[in-house]
Amino acid sequence: MNFNQDIFLNNIAQTTPFPYSISIERAEGIYLYAPDGKRYTDLISGIGVSNIGHRHPTVIKAIKDQLDKHLHVMVYGEFIQSSPNLLAQKLNEILPPNLNCSYFVNSGTEANEGALKLAKRYTGRTEIVSFRKSYHGSTHGSMSVSGNEIKKAAFRPLLPDVKFITFNTILDLQHITTRTACVIMETIQGDAGVRVPSKEFMLALRKRCDETGALLILDEIQCGMGRTGTFFAFEQFNIVPDILTIAKAFGGGLPIGAFISDKKIMNCLTHDPMLGHITTFGGNPICCASALATLNVIQDEKLLDTVEEKGKLFEKLLVHAKIKEIRRIGLLFAIDFDSEERVNRIVEKGKELGIICYWFLSHPYSFRIAPPLTITHEEIQESCALILKAIDNS
Ligand code: PMP
Repeated sequence: MNFNQDIFLNNIAQTTPFPYSISIERAEGIYLYAPDGKRYTDLISGIGVSNIGHRHPTVIKAIKDQLDKHLHVMVYGEFIQSSPNLLAQKLNEILPPNLNCSYFVNSGTEANEGALKLAKRYTGRTEIVSFRKSYHGSTHGSMSVSGNEIKKAAFRPLLPDVKFITFNTILDLQHITTRTACVIMETIQGDAGVRVPSKEFMLALRKRCDETGALLILDEIQCGMGRTGTFFAFEQFNIVPDILTIAKAFGGGLPIGAFISDKKIMNCLTHDPMLGHITTFGGNPICCASALATLNVIQDEKLLDTVEEKGKLFEKLLVHAKIKEIRRIGLLFAIDFDSEERVNRIVEKGKELGIICYWFLSHPYSFRIAPPLTITHEEIQESCALILKAIDNS
């Protein structure tokens, strides 16, 4: 084993000058374990990934079974393989009828890249409408439609013809026109600090897209897979997107994403030119087996049924004079404080106490809580006691 910090800092590319830097040897359920035996409660699910906990036995078994059959055999889209077939079939069962065709990719940002390309091809239009403060990924296209100007400026020129409107603001929907290829939106804005739109806004958005012929892409990469109490967050707003993007928790701990649409829309990537989107590893059989097992666990263990009550329990227990505001949907929380410095101290103190809370990309006054949906009432009580202690000492 090798937990050498110099290698980590110097031979593995760093994303920030201040990496969280704990060493993890193994993980199980909601817990992560350091080589010295220290236990951490994962209250952020590896940023929206471990919705069914770490190393769920059903997922581990599915991965092992697939390992014994085959690993990668061919680039995406050429060979018929059982594991992607079963996954596509399962998605058809749980999604509305117009979301019947899945393109499996490797990550969240690639899912959004595929969705944007598909919308441009289907509509023949170029303009993309997105939302201020949104986050859709770190590759050029996804970054172009993300709303954080500070993070983007150094990488210009980015995609042209991208227009930003204000989240949850009906008046701004008039900027969606017959020039617009698509609107891309996180159903719940995650890294902006958990922003939940109104039902009225979502209905107006759907209507405006229908009127103008713009496709609606909902990015559920962070808020999907049961996080909000329904399989997909859009179910709570009585609307259905034209294209849905998922990743993160979809794979149960392995890397897989998807953009999902109607077959008649998806066909655009097959013709004129064909190979409109290609990927070597998309639909990797091990990742698909893991994703299918994850969907089955969410259903079979009825995890969706307890999300709301667990969310409410957190809210009931997290009462502290230093907390300015809590925004929550399901088991996704932003806890607001008076300053960035205080949030930093709480996150650091939490680390010492063995709980992992973490920052948001675009909202420095909050930390996030998004635990595995499998967390028990008792574990919530223990975690909240530690969170309050961290706040007390910060
Ligand atoms: N969209 C949203 C809403 C996300 O939260 C993220 C990741 N934080 C992405 C897209 C990008 O996903 P990935 O890191 O897998 O590319």
